[in-house]
Amino acid sequence: MAKSKYEYVKEFETDDRLLRNVYILVRVDGKGFHKFSAAHQFTKPNDVRALNLMNHAARSVMHELDDILLAFGESDEYSFLFRKSTDLYQRREAKIVSTVVSLFTSAYVYYWGDYFTDSKRPLYPPVFDGRAVLYPSEVEVKDYFAWRQADTHINNLFNTSFWALVEKGGLTPKAAEIRLSGTDSKDKNEMLFTEFNTNYSKLPAIFRKGSVLLREGVPKDSDKDAVIPTLPETLPGSTFANVVVATEADSVSDKVSPAPESETSTTTIDSETVKLKVEEAKKGRDTSNDKKRPNEDDDNEDDDDNSDDEAKESQSKDTESRNDRNENANSSSEKKEKPAFKRMKKGVVIDHIDIIGEKFWTGRGAYILAPEKKKKMRSK
Ligand SMILES: [Mg+2]
Repeated sequence: MAKSKYEYVKEFETDDRLLRNVYILVRVDGKGFHKFSAAHQFTKPNDVRALNLMNHAARSVMHELDDILLAFGESDEYSFLFRKSTDLYQRREAKIVSTVVSLFTSAYVYYWGDYFTDSKRPLYPPVFDGRAVLYPSEVEVKDYFAWRQADTHINNLFNTSFWALVEKGGLTPKAAEIRLSGTDSKDKNEMLFTEFNTNYSKLPAIFRKGSVLLREGVPKDSDKDAVIPTLPETLPGSTFANVVVATEADSVSDKVSPAPESETSTTTIDSETVKLKVEEAKKGRDTSNDKKRPNEDDDNEDDDDNSDDEAKESQSKDTESRNDRNENANSSSEKKEKPAFKRMKKGVVIDHIDIIGEKFWTGRGAYILAPEKKKKMRSK
């Protein structure tokens, strides 16, 4: 390709590749969601439709980006943990963050009507921002998620108490705030129980603990009602389109992390969602696009508008794409047909469990922090 005299402007671009061999954490956060939730009359203190929509948007992201190992969501935010060895977009920060935020936001709007069934779309476009943070070791990764889940608990206990005082207790918001100032969690629990007949620990776990998205095995045929044939209509390369939602049938979670009794109500919520989705699917939701979209689409994922950039990278691009999808790809088999989503044999499972403390990390989360095979560094 002939070079134009304008090409020098390319030199103004900065190299924003993230340090290798450390965990990349991308957090997406709703902007101005106080206003957004008020405008859309989200129920207080929690709106399960809004939370499930957030979860759906996060699943879309995890479905598309195989290198995300774990995601955690609460309120209007979601955190995505990438594997240490990810080479997605050559670890370019802007591309990684913008892709996650963009996909999350578009999925949030796209699936809006599935959850807020009285409106096709939000009243105005919601905005999410995003950031990438690097964590050098498992210690910080565990503490990061503990921090977010502790935040979920603190906020939810406060909000549950606050709205009980306002909606059931007849206090003004100001008076409720004053009433709660200086109280600790024990005081709030006690107040909820004695004054409002609410056992906080029995509230749905999705409210108290947030949502955890993991890659796990797909249930056997007998559990097929637990499999939501969702997403195929939108995502390219969805040869494996199933996303799994935890249900009573999710024996994996029962075995490794027995849910306390209080989890039951959350499970019910998920089951209802599942039934709804399965019914939708049975009614013949159009999945034809699924077949029409070959995996080759994904090879364009590194595309941007810069053709020079493209030209420079074109030689190694095929290999990169494949490595992004399958880190164990054999570079000598370049001419073979590309494997279709090898890692997608595992479905994305959603649950509302404790990720604070070692129990999760030694149980269901164990593989997340398991040592990875060393990858060969590409020479530039
Ligand atoms: Mg926010």
